[in-house]
Amino acid sequence: MSLPQTEITRLSQKDLTQSDIEYFRNKYGKKFVRALRAVEEGKVVKYHFLPSESETWIVKGRRQYLVIPELYCTCRSFYQEVVISREINLCYHLLAQRIAEIREQYQDQESTDTERRQLFVEWRRTD
Ligand SMILES: [Zn+2]
Repeated sequence: MSLPQTEITRLSQKDLTQSDIEYFRNKYGKKFVRALRAVEEGKVVKYHFLPSESETWIVKGRRQYLVIPELYCTCRSFYQEVVISREINLCYHLLAQRIAEIREQYQDQESTDTERRQLFVEWRRTD
């Protein structure tokens, strides 16, 4: 899933208007509200690992979900509703990551590759 350019333009404005919020709520439903709240609460984190310089996006919810932008999330909803039943094409974590990146409203976290290996044990969980 990738957002259309018109939506990226709308999301990149400094302040979202009521009509922007209504537009996104009509299109994405409750997921948009949850995603925007997660962004505003600082729950989207971009890890930067050294020395490899690899990057990983995480969205904090009940636990920490690994998000591969526009492609994949480790949450149950992504597995059940996107992959298995194909009811929807994204979960709110994927939407939150896009909003956070477009609005440059995420936490930057630096870490080491050694720590990365440990973090991935948790992040790879899909239950
Ligand atoms: Zn998710």
